[in-house]
Amino acid sequence: MSDTFDVVILGGGSGGYATALRAAQLNLSVVLIEKDKLGGTCLHRGCIPTKALLHAGEVADQTREAEAFGIKAEFLGVDMKGVNTYKDDIVGKLYKGLQGLIKSAKVTYVEGTGTLVAPNVVEVAGTRYTGRNIVLATGSYSKTIPGLEVDGVKVLASEHALVLDKLPASAIVLGGGVIGVEFASAWKSLGSDVTIVEALPRLVAAEDADISKQLERTFRKRGIGFKVGKPFEKLEKTDTGVKVTIAGGEVLEAEVLLVAVGRGPSTANCGYEAQGVKMERGFVLTDERLRTNVPNVFAVGDIVPGLQLAHRGFAQGIFVAEEIGGLNPPVIVESGIPRVTYCDPEIASVGITEAQAKEKYGDDKVKSLNYNLGGNGKSGILKTQGFVKLVSVVDGPVVGVHMIGARMGEQVGEAALIVNWEAFPAEVAQLIHAHPTQNEALGEAHLALAGKPLHAHA
Ligand SMILES: Cc1cc2nc3c(=O)[nH]c(=O)nc-3n(C[C@H](O)[C@H](O)[C@H](O)COP(=O)(O)OP(=O)(O)OC[C@H]3O[C@@H](n4cnc5c(N)ncnc54)[C@H](O)[C@@H]3O)c2cc1C
Repeated sequence: MSDTFDVVILGGGSGGYATALRAAQLNLSVVLIEKDKLGGTCLHRGCIPTKALLHAGEVADQTREAEAFGIKAEFLGVDMKGVNTYKDDIVGKLYKGLQGLIKSAKVTYVEGTGTLVAPNVVEVAGTRYTGRNIVLATGSYSKTIPGLEVDGVKVLASEHALVLDKLPASAIVLGGGVIGVEFASAWKSLGSDVTIVEALPRLVAAEDADISKQLERTFRKRGIGFKVGKPFEKLEKTDTGVKVTIAGGEVLEAEVLLVAVGRGPSTANCGYEAQGVKMERGFVLTDERLRTNVPNVFAVGDIVPGLQLAHRGFAQGIFVAEEIGGLNPPVIVESGIPRVTYCDPEIASVGITEAQAKEKYGDDKVKSLNYNLGGNGKSGILKTQGFVKLVSVVDGPVVGVHMIGARMGEQVGEAALIVNWEAFPAEVAQLIHAHPTQNEALGEAHLALAGKPLHAHA
């Protein structure tokens, strides 16, 4: 093939396909190269199937708890085959839709493993695709820790945990970050006995400390076990499952161990280093315009250090396509990217934590306020507990919103507008929030921070 394309993209996950779609809209000629399935981790092994599993768990919990709402129902158990059919059906429909989008965008889609063989050429099975611009988007893989081998049977990574045809009666989840707490939550709801082991002193350690406290309180109530500040030491496989020794010598036993200790960049054997692309610990380094050190080579998504989230990949893909198209898009601010953890209770945040704000602006220049969902009618109707925490600069804008409670993930959109538009508490307090919604809690929190609380208990 001798044609030169405007953009050659390596990797068809969230970052890669978003680049392709936006570039095609800008009338650029595009090649998208994918070795597995279009849609990548998010669609096939990440965001979508995990959220389906969590929703199935929510249905199970609601059935068990129906009596508390005056509804007679009997929980007869979980049919994993049925759960998997439901989950796979959603993934399948979205996959079909995405394939249609790429086809109708007239993107040249190439199936196969690509290697960067020159700064402007990706080779796939002997065919060379030359690009005026190259976009690296090869994503990430489930990491483990040295000496702990994932076998896919008793020691699982998240991709194995998503395709189980039988729910484990008991599970140890290694890692109390986003993926770990989501699986722990889903499995508990579906009926497993779960214990999380986390080396750091708290669950979801990247979140504001108050969020971790509330999550731990609720997990305790839900009967989800967790050991924090306890690094993993040793694994022994037994006839019935696994024995895990943690710091201090305590031994935990379960049917399976899920390793959820983070995701590493999928960059090995891709040719990046050989072509002079600057890397660090396997990640591709870029400037704020997502340009690598090699001219006209860009990188997007999980291979770029920072938040590993699908919507960051989408935004970076759109950004790079527009940069290539000469539109000079505004730089993406990492702290302005909303983050949701879909466990029960849900966690949603955007901007910086109270501790980060104090470090940035000084202790006496930061104000924070926790609005308890106890004052929010809709949260009461849902029988959920939690809060909205605002972090603002004194006489300045809101710089962080941190929320926890059932369904609070749906509130992150407004929170993102508030933080990214640098709104002052009084400005948000003026906006009217519909009653009774959980969204109202966001409005009430701002009313309280602006000094005019309505349904807030002292
Ligand atoms: C269990 C789990 C749950 C998650 N839940 C969420 C969530 O709820 N919300 C959220 O925002 N994010 C979530 N994520 C993270 C999200 O999936 C990733 O941030 C996102 O998929 C990153 O997109 P990407 O394009 O960088 O990489 P990927 O989606 O990993 O795509 C990279 C693609 O490149 C292909 N590839 C790699 N090397 C080559 C090669 N040499 N040649 C050709 N193709 C290649 C791969 O096959 C893959 O399809 C979750 C992740 C996991 C694992």
